[in-house]
Amino acid sequence: MARYTGPVCRLCRREGAKLFLKGDRCYTDKCSLERKERLPGEHGEVPRRRMSEYGLQLREKQKARRIYGIMEKQFRNYFEKAERKKGITGENLLRALECRLDNVVYRLGFAPSRRAARQLVRHGHFQVNGRKVNIPSYQVKPKDVVKVREKSRNLGVIHESLRAAERMGRVSWLRVDKAKLEGEVLDYPTRDQIPEAITEKLIVELYSK
Ligand code: SF4
Repeated sequence: MARYTGPVCRLCRREGAKLFLKGDRCYTDKCSLERKERLPGEHGEVPRRRMSEYGLQLREKQKARRIYGIMEKQFRNYFEKAERKKGITGENLLRALECRLDNVVYRLGFAPSRRAARQLVRHGHFQVNGRKVNIPSYQVKPKDVVKVREKSRNLGVIHESLRAAERMGRVSWLRVDKAKLEGEVLDYPTRDQIPEAITEKLIVELYSK
């Protein structure tokens, strides 16, 4: 299945939740979910049906997948790895998603959305611990330093994004140095340091059937 490239606000309307897929716009009253609370479809208002337990679990998984921009197969792989690790599976899953390089670039404020971060990483604008990394799924670890590469320091999108990132708020497991255009991973995030409104328990239940 190909990666979704259609209008992203449609995904938020489908999940009935803000997934913050469009950068700065998501934090303004231009957010289309706030403007029209309705499911996608030409007829606009579609009454929400009471969902089955399975439906709820499925929607939660889709929501998480869409927030992080992960394909189904890869998402399943994250789950299987999370299950094999020590600790709580749902938390392991979210931690692995958070530690993707594209997510970290977004969290540090160097890109307006995860989608944009993925593209910037793919185009080779970042280095980790002094080495160029262009793999969006690259897993960062504590003490890693993610830095904008010298040749990319003047990219307008990075500077605009840093200015706008103040609205988004920071996460405490990362430290950003705006002057140096770099950020450090202080530690792996704990569940309460991950602000996404995801009920990971439902995803674990879905995959454990
Ligand atoms: Fe979702 Fe952002 Fe579009 Fe609002 S503006 S519907 S949060 S992608």
